[in-house]
Amino acid sequence: MLFDEALKLYDLDLFELGARADTIRRAYHQDKVFYNKNRHINPTNICVDRCKFCGFSAHRKNPNPYSMNIDEIAKTAAAAWQRGAKEAHIVGAHNKKLGLDWYFDMFAAVKKAAPNIHLKAMTAAEVDFLARTYNLSFEEILDRMIASGVDSMPGGGAEIFDEALRRKICGGKVKSADWLRIHELWHKRGRKSNASMLFGHIETRAHRVDHLLRLRALQEKTGGFNAFIPLLYQTKNNFLEIEKPLDAEEILKTIAVSRIVLDNIRHIKAYWVGLTLNLALAAQEFGADDMDGTIERESINSAAGAASKEGVDERFARSLIANAGFLPIERDSVYNEIG
Ligand code: SF4
Repeated sequence: MLFDEALKLYDLDLFELGARADTIRRAYHQDKVFYNKNRHINPTNICVDRCKFCGFSAHRKNPNPYSMNIDEIAKTAAAAWQRGAKEAHIVGAHNKKLGLDWYFDMFAAVKKAAPNIHLKAMTAAEVDFLARTYNLSFEEILDRMIASGVDSMPGGGAEIFDEALRRKICGGKVKSADWLRIHELWHKRGRKSNASMLFGHIETRAHRVDHLLRLRALQEKTGGFNAFIPLLYQTKNNFLEIEKPLDAEEILKTIAVSRIVLDNIRHIKAYWVGLTLNLALAAQEFGADDMDGTIERESINSAAGAASKEGVDERFARSLIANAGFLPIERDSVYNEIG
């Protein structure tokens, strides 16, 4: 797909665009809406980076630094498994004090405490942070992740790929080309990952389309992305001063454009944490087919204003999906259907 062709999609009427996205969505998934039972664990919020959109890391707007210890993390994952969670989603800030081995010891401890839990961990930004801090190659970090029990990688840290904009909002973080390279290397190891895009801040439609096309090109090469997640920027407690948050029409258009441009990625996730449950449900009519999961505890978006701190009850989520006319399907982390 060409850049101009993709950008022009935004000029379509919302419902015409939604109908085009829905055709692709229904060809893949009919009326199914996927979710999983997962537990988010964010081990630390102490960060060497200063991303301007971030309300999570400890800084003067969020002066509550914390670090969990390995035992606490492993027990949290085991307790979540006992309650029925199938996935531990572990991502955190870039904390130099933890040390390199801490990460791999922590993954091994989680797998020892909950051997059958799917461990989704380490954004490409964290991989890049460890590689740069400890002078290792990406390959070395990825191989150690696999050896210590990481099953798949989340899609975080992609933010927005345009280099000039990236320098403005998160200049210290993994470079765009390196984010893509890390996922390519991960896919080459036979592993799956997700991809994301942070939107609704100072980016333009053209920046979003550029981002989607770079992901589309990598997916053509590797086929390793399970899902694409457009993450809505949250406005509170950060250093980007956005006067006008994105309206629902532009959000739904962005989800629909994502579905159409990324027709080579099977799943488009409407991440309810950032969107709210209601808008995430509406997004299922505009190309999305997934709501993410029950989460249990959410620290990153809620620190920036989202109403997601306690996760969502599974029965409530299923009834919302069913009442909207869709078929709720519990899935595992790599989209096998469970029930
Ligand atoms: S987004 Fe991540 S890397 Fe950036 S400041 Fe926040 S915690 Fe640190």
